[in-house]
Amino acid sequence: MQILDKCRNFTRAREVMASGYYPYFVPIEGSSSTEAFVDGTPRIMVGSNNYLGLTHHPCVVEAAQAAIRKYGSGCTGSRFLNGNTILHDQLEERLAKFVGTDAALVFSTGYQTNLGTIGTLVGRNDKVYLDKLDHASIVDGSRLAMGSVGRFNHGDLENLRRQLEGDREKGIEGRMVVVDGVFSMEGDIADLPNLVPLCNEYEALLVVDDAHAIGYLGPTGAGTAEYHGMTDQVPLTIGTFSKSFASIGGFVAGPEAVVHYLRHHARSLIFSASMPPAAVATCLAALDIIEQEPERRERLWQITHRMMESFRSLGFEIGPTETPIIPIWIGPMEKTFIFWKALFDDGVFTNPVMPPAVPENSCRLRTSYIAEHTDDQLDHVLETFEKVGKQLGVIS
Ligand code: PMP
Repeated sequence: MQILDKCRNFTRAREVMASGYYPYFVPIEGSSSTEAFVDGTPRIMVGSNNYLGLTHHPCVVEAAQAAIRKYGSGCTGSRFLNGNTILHDQLEERLAKFVGTDAALVFSTGYQTNLGTIGTLVGRNDKVYLDKLDHASIVDGSRLAMGSVGRFNHGDLENLRRQLEGDREKGIEGRMVVVDGVFSMEGDIADLPNLVPLCNEYEALLVVDDAHAIGYLGPTGAGTAEYHGMTDQVPLTIGTFSKSFASIGGFVAGPEAVVHYLRHHARSLIFSASMPPAAVATCLAALDIIEQEPERRERLWQITHRMMESFRSLGFEIGPTETPIIPIWIGPMEKTFIFWKALFDDGVFTNPVMPPAVPENSCRLRTSYIAEHTDDQLDHVLETFEKVGKQLGVIS
């Protein structure tokens, strides 16, 4: 059948598998907060988003287990109907306070949060403007929306301004601008001090996706707006629980009227089963720790600065990162696969980032750090990068 030709003709992944360098779907047999066990061997995890290291925290694990005992393993339905527990309601109330907004709405994944928020709010005569490095779920939410989509060069607010200005006379009713708070592949932080006034000038609703910021960025971990001292100036904040919150799920936080509307219109909320109780309880326990243990954030920043300085002084190119996301530029795809495998065989688990996520010949190994990484683990990561980097001619 012709419709399946694309499957039969898709040979790229099989070629990499045959070469022995395939880095995807690695089967993990067990884990600690900083290691993954593969083929019976521990690998230091520098490829996760477990920034605060809460996945194995005893209070988090106990909360998840208690919720399973009380509510069972799943909700077997949408929050809209039979799948809403008091834990979901509690989490929304606490998140709204944490982020500093009126209300919050919890979805089953961060991806669905973007589909539901952007896809629902951007109507037929509206337009949404995206940074070119925004996450795929933001792009997909915009594709679902009935309105039009514009894309501006990464961080280029003059480019955004020209588009907003050029669209003035085109009969567009509503405008939305969506950016990542922390960009997931580069690690740089959105320039809210300049973006907020620009959005206000053009009456564009600013949405900040704080997936990679919430929990550790800002004095209390409340995210990018708090980091910039602009907590009450970002109308809608989106977040995920799949990173610092050590769980799965997502949320949007903002004015009560918007949250109320989304609660009754967002299709990815209404037509999909709710977060399992264990996942919600994990988030509540994680939030307790985020509020009570600022030392985790301090340690994460200490590690981040050490790793940035060390990679740079070894001669690696790490780009404009300002956060625990530290991408190491390798270049060509084949070399990146070989580099990944050499690190993996030496006990270091990284994430290869390949086209179409990045341009050809701009492949990188994305590393990211966990508050619980020990100095010995970090030494090993750096020594291994240095050894392989020299062998492969990435550094001299
Ligand atoms: N937004 C951003 C910026 C992300 O990086 C991600 C996941 N990497 C998501 C949304 C999707 O979140 P989730 O994994 O919870 O679906």
